[in-house]
Amino acid sequence: MGFQEILGQEDAVLVLSRSLENDRLAHAYVFSGPEGVGKALTAFALAGALLCPGGPEGPEGPRAANRACGACPACRKVAARSHPDLIVLEVLPDKKEISIDQVRDVQRAVSLRAYEGRKKVLIVNAADCLSSAAANAFLKTLEEPPEDTIIVLVTSQPHLLLPTIRSRCQEVRFRPLSDETVARFLVERKGLDRARAAMLAAVSAGSLGKALAGEPGEAAARRDSAIDILARAAAEPMEERTALAESLAKGEGEAEALIEWADLVVRDLLMASIGRTDRLVNVDRAEDLGRIAERISTSALFGLAEEIGRARTALRWRGNPRLVMDVFLQSAAAVMAVQREAARP
Ligand SMILES: [Zn+2]
Repeated sequence: MGFQEILGQEDAVLVLSRSLENDRLAHAYVFSGPEGVGKALTAFALAGALLCPGGPEGPEGPRAANRACGACPACRKVAARSHPDLIVLEVLPDKKEISIDQVRDVQRAVSLRAYEGRKKVLIVNAADCLSSAAANAFLKTLEEPPEDTIIVLVTSQPHLLLPTIRSRCQEVRFRPLSDETVARFLVERKGLDRARAAMLAAVSAGSLGKALAGEPGEAAARRDSAIDILARAAAEPMEERTALAESLAKGEGEAEALIEWADLVVRDLLMASIGRTDRLVNVDRAEDLGRIAERISTSALFGLAEEIGRARTALRWRGNPRLVMDVFLQSAAAVMAVQREAARP
């Protein structure tokens, strides 16, 4: 894995490869940005560039100083995470935090000389998961960084790092990926058809990790159920909605998933209602979406979009999911029922 394979993070890659070229890397970095946009991949690409002793010459001549050859034993060890000069600190399976004992082990490892390369690379994955004791211990390493070690803290929540840790690192920001980048990757590398790829890309909020985590079949099922719920909301008796809210709140992440899909569906309903069917994400459901859009006025759709925004904020601030879903479904029904009455002759 080299820098050339990192998608859509040109700024971050440019900063790092320039610093490599000029031999001006910082001692410590924070790679921050949303989940699943290539932060850890870039950290490993940086490790590769530092630990590769120089592989076979390419068509453009000798290997550039800022990239790994990808083929030599050192590069293969980096890819397999078995290079002795690559140290990875992360939450152990079935644990929630990085412990102080793990930090102490790592401190011992970085205090030794590099085995094979000139440098050692320490990658801290999900650095916001350092326990507070571990973070305080880790601070020592940043205060007196070993001469030959480059440290990279990877996090999607940089605000959770100790300010004293953050201030000792150079921050490299990673952006959400564009829908096109995610969709193109899904089509070209994962063989998804264009419609599925566009749908997954739209709901992934710029995170390739998120788009890849969802099975396309499962995503379509969730999307279909969101369309169903919205289409029926106004016609169903209130008790049905309450029961639905209860069952959504029980499943891990169900409420959040419904809100994200509902958002995408309402966006499509708005496109359909202004006649822009060429802009639909859910092209495979275009007919149904058109039928629903006919029954609902554009202002009701905006009302619905607002309700979605409210529910999303409430869920994010750890509102009780059952209550949030109940309020969302009742208000969605109310918004849609009023407009249906008004639309009647
Ligand atoms: Zn190499």
